[in-house]
Amino acid sequence: MKVSIIGATGRVGRAAAFCLAEENSVNKLVLIAREESLCKIEGESLDIYDALAAKGVYVSIKTSCDLKDIEGSNVVVLSAGVPRTPDMLRMELAVTNAKIIAEYSKKIAEVSPNSIILVITNPVDVMTYVALKASGFKKNKVFGLGNHLDSLRFKNYMAKHFHVHVSEIHTRIIGQHGPHMVPLISSTSIGGIPIEYYSAWDYFTGYKPFDIKKTIEEVINAGSNIIGKKGATEYGPAFAISNIVTTILNDENKILTVSAFLDGEIEGIKDVCLGVPVKLGSEGIKGILPIKMSENERESFMKASEVVKGNTEEIMEYLNLQDDP
Ligand code: NAP
Repeated sequence: MKVSIIGATGRVGRAAAFCLAEENSVNKLVLIAREESLCKIEGESLDIYDALAAKGVYVSIKTSCDLKDIEGSNVVVLSAGVPRTPDMLRMELAVTNAKIIAEYSKKIAEVSPNSIILVITNPVDVMTYVALKASGFKKNKVFGLGNHLDSLRFKNYMAKHFHVHVSEIHTRIIGQHGPHMVPLISSTSIGGIPIEYYSAWDYFTGYKPFDIKKTIEEVINAGSNIIGKKGATEYGPAFAISNIVTTILNDENKILTVSAFLDGEIEGIKDVCLGVPVKLGSEGIKGILPIKMSENERESFMKASEVVKGNTEEIMEYLNLQDDP
């Protein structure tokens, strides 16, 4: 199984490379860098080889600035993009990154037409749409990381609050990877028991109430908070990427939340990429799960769709990429 990472010199790309190199299901890893960063990526691969030797693992790692080397990849992880500078508007960032994503997606389609594209670059819901249109791939083959990471963060906060193991929390965040993310509280359970069946949400906590609104604010700001403290998010996105990639490579049929192109499957929403629960496996998205939401959740999801669609239309108009998936 071959996985390629474009943007592998970046903090997310290289952390993902390290994580994926350890996975049994990955035999070949291709790390793509810009020509001026080739030396950096070579150093990264040598360091990873040393770590793998210590673990007794072997994977072939190719470093390159030639996109031809991604040929035959099962999955291409796309994390190239410019970071936002303080003087840059979000939309300016989106346009710059959209051009990078569109360019790479066209090349992926040329060189490795059977691969699955996993988009990481922000704003990820819009970038996923750009990658889908620019590659011309089918909608099940292009999706983005966003709400899977948000859901993991939400699980973490809940596990801490309720003093239970993180694996006992089943919850999901859908919608936008951004301020319009929607926690699916109506589908949340602890230890398999729906949260509404607990006599009090604060059952485990000595009656300290769980503040959903505050927790969601924390999830929304989790990335900026980490960036503010250490300069970048690395391990969280890297393990989330590894989860998604190995689910595909091992055809695991896990239900994960990824940014996917909607064609009316949920609330009739069409022509936008949003975080939704999907069944994932070797063909990519095998199906979008029809979900039932409370009225509040539905309203917030519709709002997320409206906002992301507006942003996407603005970017697409700019790029003028209007082909159907
Ligand atoms: P980073 O450390 O700044 O790395 C950016 C990468 O993009 C580097 O490999 C860089 O290559 C490359 N790059 C920069 N400008 C480029 C250009 N004009 N053309 C081609 N490649 C270019 O950023 P990061 O922390 O890894 O984050 C990468 C992206 O992922 C960002 O958009 C970030 O917001 C996003 N992200 C998304 C999630 C999510 O959940 N979806 C989570 C975390 C981060 P050089 O080394 O040659 O400069």
